[in-house]
Amino acid sequence: MSTESTTPITTQRVHWDLNYDVHLGATWGRFMQGLTEQRILANRCPECSRVFVPPQAYCESCFVKTDEWLELPPEGVVEAFTVAWQGFRGGPTPPYAIAGIRLDGASTLLMHYVGGLDLGNPHTVREQIGPGTRVRAVWAEQRSGQILDIAHFEKI
Ligand SMILES: [Zn+2]
Repeated sequence: MSTESTTPITTQRVHWDLNYDVHLGATWGRFMQGLTEQRILANRCPECSRVFVPPQAYCESCFVKTDEWLELPPEGVVEAFTVAWQGFRGGPTPPYAIAGIRLDGASTLLMHYVGGLDLGNPHTVREQIGPGTRVRAVWAEQRSGQILDIAHFEKI
């Protein structure tokens, strides 16, 4: 019996449906607690003075703990953005916009949704949320200590 002409099976469909708890650690735990109170907490490196949001337990440049905390305003500027035209399972209904937002006083970008835009015409998106656009956080009515306690950002 020859097996040369048979096509090998290369994939098999499986189903995973998992619920699990993610251990946040002290730094992200404090950040998430702040979100429940509509506060955006950041921390600062004592060596290079960069301000991280989301906060980091240590500065990857200076190799020191970043345990000086501060609260940032819920406003900032869009530095980069993209629009998702295709949906992902468990994600929002497309189209939706995601931006890298530099909150006032932050050295890093916070990635988040930008709502309230007219995404019907791709050619007008840049005019609406191009780099330099000022945005502010819109808080979720129900907050439980997750990044979506900020429902999205909107243009100011
Ligand atoms: Zn540093």
